[in-house]
Amino acid sequence: MKIAMMARNPNLYSHKRMKEAAEARGHEFEIVNTLRCYMNIASRRPEIYYNGEKLTGFDAVIPRIGASITYYGLAVLRQFEMMDVFPLNESVAIGRSRDKLRSMQLLAREGIGLPVTTFAHDPKQTEEVLKTAGGAPVVIKLLEGTQGIGVVLADTERSAKSVIEAFRGANVNILVQEFIKEAGGEDIRVFVIGGKVVAAMRRKGAEGEFRSNLHRGGSSAKVKISPEERSTALRAAKTMGLNVCGVDLLRSNHGPVVMEVNSSPGIEGIEKATGIDIATKIIDFLEKAAVAGKTKTKGR
Ligand code: ADP
Ligand code: GLU
Repeated sequence: MKIAMMARNPNLYSHKRMKEAAEARGHEFEIVNTLRCYMNIASRRPEIYYNGEKLTGFDAVIPRIGASITYYGLAVLRQFEMMDVFPLNESVAIGRSRDKLRSMQLLAREGIGLPVTTFAHDPKQTEEVLKTAGGAPVVIKLLEGTQGIGVVLADTERSAKSVIEAFRGANVNILVQEFIKEAGGEDIRVFVIGGKVVAAMRRKGAEGEFRSNLHRGGSSAKVKISPEERSTALRAAKTMGLNVCGVDLLRSNHGPVVMEVNSSPGIEGIEKATGIDIATKIIDFLEKAAVAGKTKTKGR
């Protein structure tokens, strides 16, 4: 196969590992800088240009689109789809997952466990919003945040109110969520490829930290998940329409709850914690699935 990876930094662990795994299997692998791709939107002739050359002959594309370039990145990925190149994850599914509210609405419709979550825009509704989320303690999240930045735990009604008001004053979108105390500062990352769970790890926050993000000084280890956790992760992946994703769960008293479904999960943490060769499993999946014309949506 000839595989393209859309990525800005070819030296990231995840990107290097996937290239290595593909080449070990005899595939041709080219990393293209997403922002340097340009496109010709001509009738019935979808094309992508890169460094003055037309990109042709690709069987599959691995999108690694950073959150800050979602809009342009998805346009490039859609163009690959128009050219019948099989995407590891479809543009439509990635678009869905990038919108936290839209994701939660879709997961909720499927009856998938979620933390009680409230969202509102009008600052006058602060008290109502707090009440609906079950009252303090609550977790308040910036919708555009990543890596645990913009995630605040408010222990009391008073602190919750002032945090909500401060965020609102900054004119950013937030959600207010029940605090799953019993998770004990731990979350579970379940890695799904092609409708199967291939690995799972437990992440624990640094001492005294409720956020388990590795970027916030957390640590990780292999974990055995329950059948309910497995089926929750698989249903979440299916609902989002993602072939490859990282489903983040919390162990709550009312069963596993999904916090987030990540469409471009890094593989360094999970490979190191579990010793599982995720990169090769991704290439395996592409070998089986990358049939031209197989994408269902083609960006529609
Ligand atoms: P980000 O997408 O920025 O990583 P998350 O929503 O994943 O933000 O939150 C970061 C971390 O905070 C999670 O990994 C989890 O450990 C903790 N956390 C988030 N929401 C809750 C919650 N409702 N209850 C308990 N802990 C939470
Ligand atoms: N780059 C983000 C991550 O791996 C992906 C975010 C997303 O896919 O929504 O954490």
